[in-house]
Amino acid sequence: MTVNDLDLLHQDTIAHRAVFDVRPGWVPLIRQAAVAASGFPPAEQVKITGCVASGGMLVLKFSDRQSPKFAGALKLREAIRKKSLSTCEECGRPARLRIGLARQMTTCEDHVHLVGELRDDDGRHIDPWETT
Ligand SMILES: [Zn+2]
Repeated sequence: MTVNDLDLLHQDTIAHRAVFDVRPGWVPLIRQAAVAASGFPPAEQVKITGCVASGGMLVLKFSDRQSPKFAGALKLREAIRKKSLSTCEECGRPARLRIGLARQMTTCEDHVHLVGELRDDDGRHIDPWETT
């Protein structure tokens, strides 16, 4: 499934001009988010307008960010962000965050080569947004 298909299947929750610059393994996460957002109560309805996919995390962007009705979307954004940190960006299989010299990605063992040479502290950070 491509991201354009998503746009057509979930017109109620994905904004018309949404852009999702993600590798194939994360497309199902966007689909899950679109389905979840369609279940929001009417007062919390927002559209997914795109995402930031960098540093091994998928962070969704929503419309109406300044509105109180955004609370549901914030929870969904965090749930998807956490899932992305255990989902291979390339193939969707179980994965973990890899910290390379040139980039950070979340990959399975088969796709760790996409990260390039790993840093010494690879494996010590599970979630960049949580300090341990
Ligand atoms: Zn993989």
